[in-house]
Amino acid sequence: MSKILENQVAIITGSTSGMGEAIARRFAKQGAAVVINGTNEERGKKIEEEIVQEGGKAAFYKADVSSASEVEAMVDFAVEQFSKVTILVPNAGILGNGLATEISLETWDKTLGVNLNGVYYLCRYGLPKLIEAGGGTVVINASIASFKSFPQHPAYCASKGALIPLMKNIAQDYAEHNIRANAICPGPVDTPLIWDSVKAFPNADSIIDETIGMTCVGRLGTPDDVAEAALFFASDQSSFVTGASLTIDGGIMT
Ligand code: NAD
Repeated sequence: MSKILENQVAIITGSTSGMGEAIARRFAKQGAAVVINGTNEERGKKIEEEIVQEGGKAAFYKADVSSASEVEAMVDFAVEQFSKVTILVPNAGILGNGLATEISLETWDKTLGVNLNGVYYLCRYGLPKLIEAGGGTVVINASIASFKSFPQHPAYCASKGALIPLMKNIAQDYAEHNIRANAICPGPVDTPLIWDSVKAFPNADSIIDETIGMTCVGRLGTPDDVAEAALFFASDQSSFVTGASLTIDGGIMT
């Protein structure tokens, strides 16, 4: 059976863990060459090795997505390694929680730097490569926090909220270059990030239980649930879909 991402080259930021890792592994299985990125070099190299051992194409690149020059260098690395870039998945994200009046300015800047600027930088330096390749897809990992507030997460919600209009602008402005842009918007997914988000609270476990109770399906999402949706948006299976946001949240937003 033919693989649906054959001849594609994807950069997936924040793919040394959680959903990014699941997306990288899923895309590689479907024939894409993947650039893995994240802050954990050891994990990144291990994932690269495992994908290659399984017959896939992968290369890890350590870059802080909040640095424009590092993201630009990562895009150049992708072209050096795999000759082109056709899929951008800006996925790296951090939480930066704290009340609006109490969060440090440093945390505010860092959260916006990774979650918003990091997405923008990948688009800024990656889109010209997609144009050179004759087209491609952008799949932004946003959140249900793009649409809904969460207690003590003003920086996170602001950063994720901004991604939807950014995605829609890219969908509109780059359609003439055969580029589509869409957003996946996960609800609670079982990754290190969600457990970090509650660990500051004394009732961490009950917060997770309450969150599960808010879903219709009665469970946390898995990274693979999200990878499946990312694959749909990255591939020709969604060729008539652009400018769309898909909630993958077990029904929290119903
Ligand atoms: P995770 O903590 O498992 O993974 C985050 C990844 O981002 C890691 O690979 C980490 O190394 C990388 N990263 C962090 N800062 C970085 C930086 N400055 N530069 C480069 N890489 C960096 O988290 P996850 O839950 O898989 O999160 C992936 C995305 O999904 C994030 O954007 C997150 O906001 C979003 N999200 C998560 C949930 C959830 O419940 N887990 C829900 C909605 C949206």
